[in-house]
Amino acid sequence: MSLKSFLKPYRGMRDYLPKDLYERRVVEEAIRELFKLYCYEEVETPTIEYYELLAAKVGEETRKTMYVFKDLAGRTVALRPEGTAPIVRLVASKLKTAPKPLRLGYIWDFYRYDEPQRGRYRRFYQGGFELIGSSKPEADMEILSISIELMKKLRLEKFQIKLSDVGVLRGLMTSWGVDENVQNRVLSLVDKKNYVEAIKELEAANLDEASISKIAGLFKLKGSNYKSILAEAKSMVSLCEHSVRSLENLEVILDYMRDVYHEPEYILDLGFARGLEYYTGMIFEVFVEDLDIALIGGGRYDKLIELYGGEPTPATGCAAGIDRLVLAMRLNNVTPPLPPNKRVYLYILDGVPLSYGFKVSTELRANGIPVEVEVMGRSLSKGLSTASKKNCPYTLILGSKEAEAGLVTLKDMSTGLQETLTLREAFSRIKSNFNV
Ligand code: AMP
Repeated sequence: MSLKSFLKPYRGMRDYLPKDLYERRVVEEAIRELFKLYCYEEVETPTIEYYELLAAKVGEETRKTMYVFKDLAGRTVALRPEGTAPIVRLVASKLKTAPKPLRLGYIWDFYRYDEPQRGRYRRFYQGGFELIGSSKPEADMEILSISIELMKKLRLEKFQIKLSDVGVLRGLMTSWGVDENVQNRVLSLVDKKNYVEAIKELEAANLDEASISKIAGLFKLKGSNYKSILAEAKSMVSLCEHSVRSLENLEVILDYMRDVYHEPEYILDLGFARGLEYYTGMIFEVFVEDLDIALIGGGRYDKLIELYGGEPTPATGCAAGIDRLVLAMRLNNVTPPLPPNKRVYLYILDGVPLSYGFKVSTELRANGIPVEVEVMGRSLSKGLSTASKKNCPYTLILGSKEAEAGLVTLKDMSTGLQETLTLREAFSRIKSNFNV
């Protein structure tokens, strides 16, 4: 088969051309700015990890989409599908004795064999914030605050935050003795809004009718009037202390968040779960109107670190989908234009020692001025027209006589004016134009 059949990237994976990469970098820079402002230290772990580590608590849905393979020594490894497991590995090992709280950040690529569609890729980037060591609602609020600030930084002003607390449903199911595996399956179905199958799971686990109808009732509780939803939910779960506490926790978080950030619409949705299995408390996702896929997702995971052999350590965090944020910015026309790639065009005439050309270009670059050296063997007139097509403010022309005298010819591309100057004169002219 001809190699031409393979010129398209592997299904679900993307090439990032300069504009795509620039847009991604805009989001990444906003994330890094927030690392700084919220005091998160950036870390990096390998793309490949042991399958067992990545698969342990990721949830059935994500587990099924993992890229898993054997290395040449027969070890079963996988490409990371999400960032929390590698972060937890660090916290349970190298950072075991690090003082808490730990605030860790990352910008990594992830791999899932999802069905590709708009905003869903098999390789995608996430910016993550993990706050480790605190069980307090203010830690969850910090994560929500980061998510809101990121949206604002990217000029995505109109957005919704959907919230719940997995403790509401898990608390009830645990109090009724529902096995953890069944709970995981139920929540995974709830995540896909497949409430019918979720109820069937509970029926198959021999849960009584009254309990099932209570759960079914909770699934329907959703809206922006969170006070009345919480009141209704509390009356439904009043006998289960864990669920009541989870609702109270949500109320504290929502009250304070509304006080600080009135703008985003907070939707309390008790029929909302997240695919990843490790959540133990508040969970949330961020949406914009014209895109029905979550841009940012996160929540509390208090049991994960001890599960990986670390000290029992509460934790909360979020991951922002960088590709999806880029998509949302495009849809909302808030993508900043590519910055002008301002540069000097350097044309070295035949017979000039190349070393002179390189000396001049090196010195310009050392002064912070981008230089594009003509390397295609174009004639001077073609070189000049290339320079004007590229909007270069100046072309520097080096001829033999100038080279001997240590001079250069500077052509101002907007006026067409051409002058022979000393290197120093040319540099100061260029520098003032480039503001460096
Ligand atoms: P998750 O790791 O599933 O909690 O996802 C966190 C964020 O990553 C989501 O809100 C999305 O923005 C992004 N994300 C998850 N899966 C994909 C995917 N297949 N393609 C692109 N972005 C994704």
